[in-house]
Amino acid sequence: MDRVYMAQSVPVAENQVPDLPDCNLYLMDEALVEGVRREGAGSREAGLETWGARLGRADLARLAAEINRQGPVLRSFDRRGMRIDVVEFHPGWSEFLSLAFAQGMHGGAWTEPGQGAQVARAAHYLMHGQVEAGSLCPVTMTSAAIPLLMREPWFHEIRPLLASREYDDRDGPLTGKRSMMVGMGMTERQGGSDLRANLSRAEPQGKGWFRLTGHKWFFSSPMSDAHLVLARDGDGHSCFYLPRWLDEGRRNPVRILRLKDKLGNRSNASAEVEFEDALARRIGEPGRGIATLVEMASYTRLDCVLGSTALMRQALVQGVHHARHRRAFGRLLIDQPLMRQVLADLALESEAATVLALRLAGAFDRAGQPAEQALRRLLTPAAKFWICKRAIDVTAECMEVWGGNGYVEDGPMARLYREAPVNSIWEGSGNVMCLDVLRAARQEPQPVAQTVDGLARAHPGEPALRAAADRLLSALALDTDGQQAMARMVARDLVLLVQADLLLRHAPDWLSRAFVDSRLGAPGGDAFGARPVALASDALLQRAWPG
Ligand SMILES: Cc1cc2nc3c(=O)[nH]c(=O)nc-3n(C[C@H](O)[C@H](O)[C@H](O)COP(=O)(O)OP(=O)(O)OC[C@H]3O[C@@H](n4cnc5c(N)ncnc54)[C@H](O)[C@@H]3O)c2cc1C
Repeated sequence: MDRVYMAQSVPVAENQVPDLPDCNLYLMDEALVEGVRREGAGSREAGLETWGARLGRADLARLAAEINRQGPVLRSFDRRGMRIDVVEFHPGWSEFLSLAFAQGMHGGAWTEPGQGAQVARAAHYLMHGQVEAGSLCPVTMTSAAIPLLMREPWFHEIRPLLASREYDDRDGPLTGKRSMMVGMGMTERQGGSDLRANLSRAEPQGKGWFRLTGHKWFFSSPMSDAHLVLARDGDGHSCFYLPRWLDEGRRNPVRILRLKDKLGNRSNASAEVEFEDALARRIGEPGRGIATLVEMASYTRLDCVLGSTALMRQALVQGVHHARHRRAFGRLLIDQPLMRQVLADLALESEAATVLALRLAGAFDRAGQPAEQALRRLLTPAAKFWICKRAIDVTAECMEVWGGNGYVEDGPMARLYREAPVNSIWEGSGNVMCLDVLRAARQEPQPVAQTVDGLARAHPGEPALRAAADRLLSALALDTDGQQAMARMVARDLVLLVQADLLLRHAPDWLSRAFVDSRLGAPGGDAFGARPVALASDALLQRAWPG
């Protein structure tokens, strides 16, 4: 039977693992630090260090667990029976949004642009997402809406609210608020991938305003001050800015029918809503609403990559920490050769995801350069597919490193695991992303072929890269049905090629060697640790989370 004894004032059961202590999420992550410098955000490191320490505090991790246990609640009516459609959150929810706003993650890359702005934001996102993922949803949607709203002649009316770093959760007209959030509503009951099926309707009211009727089947962050929504407008679909409150101090009739009972992402609210003649302003070109919202989705997809990378990183750190404290068969888990192989494989995955995510964020910073814009267009959907899928496997494997303790809700692993699939589903599910990679390749066949070929040519001593590039290019030469059937392979190989290229150029030799040999050069990658390659486990584990 386990003996329980006291160390200082904290009871610690024998062979149980202590919680992670306070740590700096920036300074402890070599791949992150190197990537931030390489991708042009080195001048912003002081702020990242400060935030790394703040976000790495153990009390914040405990609060994150709490707000996911006690999720939001819908209150449709007040005590007098008046319709209010209010969602109430655990008080800790505001704490996480305040932290995100203070870092400028909700819009700073647009309202305070400059060298490395997207990369620095990505680094903040990678740290915040390790602690509390649900609060990233409203932050992402607000940030992604800004470039669309900036083109509207009335943007100056809301700019100060979007640029503010002070989170303001009061529910009321914008005239009385210090900041605002924006959500997005596209998915309806009949489908979310094929937006042409959207049935909500918009009828003109004059002066650029419309009345919306219809519904949205998924409408996250329903307490946002506005949503960008898609609705039928004449023969096409347009994008509309739908405020929660109208200027005269009246709630816009957007009825929250219920909140989704979700697998994960429990701190965040996702609703079903109905529009009862709700007032909205059209934005973007009339009839081009799908294109407008697809542009917005390109930004949210970057954030899915970042969010999944953050989950992988936190799961890995928790796994390594656990293995350094837990014993079985007379040795610490970390000293068992098979566990070292599994953890090293996981560390490689996390490092490669971090490197790729920051490279992609760098391409968003440099989108004014044609080559960077082309890479961004091609790589965003591919990375959204592959990295979000990897996060599901990585969080599952790290949960298993914790054994049975990983599966129960007392610790962080079950939550990390439940959080992982959503990034793969929303903002364009896996298949839709892979089909989008094909679309990008069709739009610019020559540059895409050159990019893929160039990734292999850059490393003439690496036949595995050449083989992957040739396989990918052959798939792109198939007829449409053939291409579609191969689309997941195309997206995966594209990401692996970019990751291998980045690691070969920038990571220590032993790390890039391990990546290329295990990911591109050997079969058997269906479970972590199952590749016929001896990974440089000591160095990998020490780099991943210094002991
Ligand atoms: C927690 C959560 C919050 C959400 N919040 C929002 C929100 O705030 N706003 C919003 O608008 N939406 C939101 N969504 C909806 C989300 O974006 C959609 O669920 C997603 O886009 C998929 O649409 P669907 O559910 O209708 O699936 P479908 O479109 O029915 O697709 C089902 C499956 O078929 C695949 N598929 C589709 N077309 C093809 C094809 N041609 N070939 C092969 N496979 C295909 C898809 O990849 C998917 O796997 C949210 C979803 C979740 C889970």
